[in-house]
Amino acid sequence: MAAKKEVINPKAIIHQRFGDKAHYNIEEIQEFSSNGCPGLSITQKGPCLYRCCLQLPDFSVVSEVFKRKKDAMQSAAEKALEKLTDPPVENPSDQLVSRLSYLFSNEFYATCHPLSGHFRAALHREGDLKGFVPISLMPIYDSKISNLCKSIKPEVELKPFEVTSLIMEASGRLPDSVFGSKEHSSLKRVTPYPPEVLQSVEISCEEETYVKAIRVPYLVNKSVDSLTIDVSSNKYYMDAIAKELGVSDASRIMLSRGIGKASSETRLYFCDPKSCELDLVKEDGQREGLLNTRASYLCGQDIYGDAILATIGYLWKSYDLFHEDVSSRTYYRLLLNKIPTGIYKLSREAIFAAKLPLNFGTRSNWRGMFPRDILSTFCRQHHLPEPVFTSKTTSKSEESFKSEVKIFSKDRNLILHCHPSESYKKQSDAIQNSSIKLLSWLNDYFMKVNTNGNNGDIVFYPDHISNDLLTQIKESCEQMLGFDGGNCEYRIEGEESEITPTTGCLVCVGYCVWLVNGEEREVIEKNEEFEFELGSEAVIPDLETVTGQMSVGQSGHFTTKLTSRELTFVGNGDPERVSGLLASGECALEYCVTLLRVTEPLEDRMEKALFSPSLSKQRVLYAVQHIRESCATFLVDFGCGSGSLLDSLLDYPTSLERIVGVDISIKALARAAKTLHSKLSNGCIVPVQSSRIKSALLLDGSITTFDSRVYGCDIGTCLEVIEHMSEDQATTFGHVVLSSFFPKILIVSTPNYEYNPILQKSTPQSQEEEEDKNPTKPCKFRNFDHKFEWTRDQFQVWASELAKKHNYSVEYSGVGGVEGVEPGFASQIAVFRRVRDLPEGGEMKDVPYNVVWDWKSSNE
Ligand code: SAH
Ligand code: MG
Repeated sequence: MAAKKEVINPKAIIHQRFGDKAHYNIEEIQEFSSNGCPGLSITQKGPCLYRCCLQLPDFSVVSEVFKRKKDAMQSAAEKALEKLTDPPVENPSDQLVSRLSYLFSNEFYATCHPLSGHFRAALHREGDLKGFVPISLMPIYDSKISNLCKSIKPEVELKPFEVTSLIMEASGRLPDSVFGSKEHSSLKRVTPYPPEVLQSVEISCEEETYVKAIRVPYLVNKSVDSLTIDVSSNKYYMDAIAKELGVSDASRIMLSRGIGKASSETRLYFCDPKSCELDLVKEDGQREGLLNTRASYLCGQDIYGDAILATIGYLWKSYDLFHEDVSSRTYYRLLLNKIPTGIYKLSREAIFAAKLPLNFGTRSNWRGMFPRDILSTFCRQHHLPEPVFTSKTTSKSEESFKSEVKIFSKDRNLILHCHPSESYKKQSDAIQNSSIKLLSWLNDYFMKVNTNGNNGDIVFYPDHISNDLLTQIKESCEQMLGFDGGNCEYRIEGEESEITPTTGCLVCVGYCVWLVNGEEREVIEKNEEFEFELGSEAVIPDLETVTGQMSVGQSGHFTTKLTSRELTFVGNGDPERVSGLLASGECALEYCVTLLRVTEPLEDRMEKALFSPSLSKQRVLYAVQHIRESCATFLVDFGCGSGSLLDSLLDYPTSLERIVGVDISIKALARAAKTLHSKLSNGCIVPVQSSRIKSALLLDGSITTFDSRVYGCDIGTCLEVIEHMSEDQATTFGHVVLSSFFPKILIVSTPNYEYNPILQKSTPQSQEEEEDKNPTKPCKFRNFDHKFEWTRDQFQVWASELAKKHNYSVEYSGVGGVEGVEPGFASQIAVFRRVRDLPEGGEMKDVPYNVVWDWKSSNE
């Protein structure tokens, strides 16, 4: 094989001619706008596009917009070359003629251009077709030709077949250099290339080249299958594809645009419906029967008859033919990638395990592609313009942002408008949140989850989007997903260990998914290490439930119904075995999950690492001190969570006799019941201190509503809870508790936002985030579930207004940090004391809470 010569691409030619007098300036283009607030710039990094301006001594040119810098530079160089070689002409028809003349020139033959490869390969075609280049390729591989055709005849945008006649006509004006064959819709040079031109390009020849491709039949009941195309040396690959499609030669073949990744060479090849056996086709309307719906959906343009999906073609970077095998898995993955949740599943490589969460927490606990990027990808996949984001600040004193997203149709009509009411401390979080809202909506809509129109945050304009597109997305969603887990039966194996995960923990599991049919099984997905946040609904419900019940080292097993056949093919199983199993009857999916590691939520880790005793322990001690001082016997823990306070209180000698925990999380309450039960009921380990306890009760309900079982306690605690509700709800809770529950003492703790910089400086996580370079930027919240975090002033305004209204006194204090030293305590605490006596009665019939666990001492 001859040594490869330096590749001659447009940039290389410009370099030869101009050396360092050629200046390339790359411009990044961010496709969203920020309106109303000139001071705001979007710091969020996302997929961005590039345009290149090439400056030469006498003139400059600007490229089209590309996803890769390289392509933008090549395009600018190419434009500059055109300016240099082409005589200046105005009329697009004349320009088309001169462009054709350039394509058939000696100079073009030796360039490294995706189209010149075809010119060279055409010389190796057999028989009469030697040297003929199919016209259909030209607008596909040469944007200049395509644009000129569009400006001559705008209709070709919709009827790509009509370019052929335009190009044929133009070639008629070059009788000395280009010869057109009407019969073959191909063009050829009139005179042979001079030998020195032919010799100037050396192409390496592989003896035997076979490319795996996929046939997508237009009849939907025929399955998508593999085939092998023989493109061995000296054969023109387009002719080989033509043969597979059952037509005489390459000129009958049409090409789709690239599918999938940016600048992809994966395309669909299909027959020109006018010229091949599909002659039955008469007028546009009557083609319907031959429309290949699967192929059309995949590439977003109408395709008729059978199609072949293949990755093959010439690239800017080499003279050799580029090719890659395409398997049926690729096909199904491309299809899955067009569904909003599919993009997320594929990005995490956890097709059978992952699920798009409904909420965005913070950048540090989000795993997988970011919602904004998923949304952009979704739009791009469906040939819609990039989503448009608008952010605005909502208040002057505190930096907080709201973000809206708009999705437009191709012709710039508004399709979807999402304007969530929540505001965020960070603009990027606001953007991610509005993106995920929209994605969830799209997902519900396409999965037919009774969303057929607007909801509070989203306005949908169905008239502005083509029905075809909607139906196609729906159909492919149904085809690919249609999966409802939940309520599975599972079994857990292995020795129970100390470490069990709680909501908000980051868990790491290893898992394997099998396709099973009786005794036969095939692994279709395996992940050695897969992390997710428990409770964020980032995995399928079954996996979430099972993981929540395991301790580190244990394994869980469960079986689910088969997801769709198509989705099964996306998995990593051997396609032959998979089809075999699927064909031979009832199949199911079996999961085996092992819990490898549990990382506590960042907030808990900080509370343990930076304080001694840990901040949570300090809160417990604080409560104990008040219990002792007040000789309280009846305690209610509002928002008790997994019962950490109730559990720890039992380790200290106190006057308590009756304890009640209230929470809205059944899962957390179940944990609380488990630990409290073993502590209180197990005679052997019951600590002396807790022997006074006569009853313990866990109730499921919202602390914003009244329940008479909690009425009139001696002490109410509400530790690190209010920030998990909206500010309005927090205030409602304040009113309800002080006006209806009437605790003698109420202790409310919540994070002090002013303390966050100290916490965040000491955690490595924050350094990962580039945005954090800005010193004036607002701090992150401590936990993904926090709806707000207040400064001391904000908290004290809240508490003092409540106290005044309901006749309580209030004092402020805290734990973590030192009294009177800036920036105050890590956890700020308000202690409310009832000033008047407990009023008579109260509505004793109100019992909206559900009893989760009710324990009475046997000494009673
Ligand atoms: N007090 C516990 C748990 C704090 S986490 C501790 O200090 O460890 C916050 C808890 O508040 C969660 O368990 C959550 O389920 C609960 N919560 C949030 N909103 C609630 C509401 N409206 N009613 C009851 N509990 C609520
Ligand atoms: Mg909290």
